[in-house]
Amino acid sequence: MVYLDNAATTPVNPVALRAAWPWLTEEFGNPSSTHELGQRASDALEDARARIATWLDCRASEVVFTSGGTESDNLAITGLALANPRGRHIISAQTEHEAVLETIDYLERIHEFEVTWLPVDRTGAIAESDFLTALREDTTLVSLMLANNEIGTVHPIARFAELAHQVGAAFHTDAVQAAGWLDTRISTLGVDALALSGHKLGAPKGSGVAYLRGRLAVEPLLHGGGQESGRRSGTENVAWAVALATAIEALPNFAEEQPRVAELRDEFTAEVLKSVPGASLTGHPIERHPGIASFCLEGISGEAVLLELERRGVLVSSGSACAAGSNEPSHVLMACGFDEELAQTAVRFSFSHQTSHEELQQAAAALSQAVAAVSSI
Ligand code: PLP
Repeated sequence: MVYLDNAATTPVNPVALRAAWPWLTEEFGNPSSTHELGQRASDALEDARARIATWLDCRASEVVFTSGGTESDNLAITGLALANPRGRHIISAQTEHEAVLETIDYLERIHEFEVTWLPVDRTGAIAESDFLTALREDTTLVSLMLANNEIGTVHPIARFAELAHQVGAAFHTDAVQAAGWLDTRISTLGVDALALSGHKLGAPKGSGVAYLRGRLAVEPLLHGGGQESGRRSGTENVAWAVALATAIEALPNFAEEQPRVAELRDEFTAEVLKSVPGASLTGHPIERHPGIASFCLEGISGEAVLLELERRGVLVSSGSACAAGSNEPSHVLMACGFDEELAQTAVRFSFSHQTSHEELQQAAAALSQAVAAVSSI
């Protein structure tokens, strides 16, 4: 099997699982308990927090453990918007993940925020002039993702955060797909909030982190015992926090990983464009995630190609895992200006840090055969 659906989820790194095991078994204490068993759990939790903070280059007190990317996006966006009454205007983009789109939609419907949804060009990029036009005196929050999960386009987050700060708006970025591939250090990005999901980087599903800048007030989503300094009540999942810190530390250094994998991706892309009639690459040609290559296949059903690829041992998806199985065209491709028919032909290949040249050659050959099989029906 060639697994090229790592943007949907990754296998759990055995090292992370081994690190988590004691905290699921003999070290089962509640980190809020004052006895020694509880205190050991609390120490493990704080150690995991400090290790993740080192990796993100932020303070440990700014790391909040959550159940994953969706919760981190919800907490950052809703929490910042409701706690900072300076204005009721939010800016985001049409190509964001549903975790961001639906959260902002909720704030618009229920809390009467006004939202500007930035358009993107054919490559998924946002024009700086559109961003500047959208920024207002009463803009309270901007939420823009670092790397798009379907087409891989990378936004210039550090620049957009700097512009947002000039009007006093807080800036959140969904870095769920970027982590481990791009520079996600807070010191580089300059953002006020950032979302990570464990299962995209070798930790278990249901683990995640929200980075929330210390000086900003955040209205919690979950109310209760006041864990996570009151920002996320509920007994912490110590084992998953330890697994997440361990998985994160096992990630390769992005500065070396980015050019190495980008080269593999570009060779694979060239092979697909050469051998598959009607194939075109989606997303930005240069500012893109090194491990995501997504194509439209003119006149061919993406879903039918997925099945043919699976018969040949290659696992991929049509776009986001959420859209898989539905007949809805991708909202990302529609925002890029693709017509519905072309948007339904999308096939996304997403790599792991272990993906090899040979596997990609196998996948390109399988795609060519799969398209031929579907065309002949
Ligand atoms: N944001 C992006 C960009 C994603 O790709 C995903 C998952 O596909 C999420 C958020 C949601 O993360 P989780 O599955 O951990 O809730």
